[in-house]
Amino acid sequence: MPSEKAIKMNRIIKAIWVFNWFNSCGFTELIPVVGSRWDMERFGMIITPTPRHADVLFIAGYQTWKSLERAKRVYEQMAEPRVVLGLGACTMSGGMYWDSYNTVKRLSDYLPVTMYIPGCPPRPEAVFEACVKIFQHVKELK
Ligand code: SF4
Repeated sequence: MPSEKAIKMNRIIKAIWVFNWFNSCGFTELIPVVGSRWDMERFGMIITPTPRHADVLFIAGYQTWKSLERAKRVYEQMAEPRVVLGLGACTMSGGMYWDSYNTVKRLSDYLPVTMYIPGCPPRPEAVFEACVKIFQHVKELK
């Protein structure tokens, strides 16, 4: 009988289960990807309602110091191997909120971000390209 890790790895390679942690207009970054035109489920990416089932954590929008603590708790609930994708300029540099006293400037200072997707907001093509790289990354982990 395959180990629990092998079962999970097999599932990851077939499909990526995504948990979303979006703040502010960051939510708009995913809407085109889940809509009928782009339809991420066609490519094996499914949104899950709980981080305990998620392989990938999408974080979008600026993070305040309060929301960052919640994002860390979400991340801690995910099983290994887990991947964090930072969507948009706000996760990379603070974006247009770069000089706010209450927002995080660079998410990877606080969470292990595997990949950033640039843009304000990122184009759906960029999200898909990142997900292809995530599939490859997970295969390499195996
Ligand atoms: S990167 Fe742009 S679209 Fe995304 S949360 Fe920041 S301001 Fe909004």
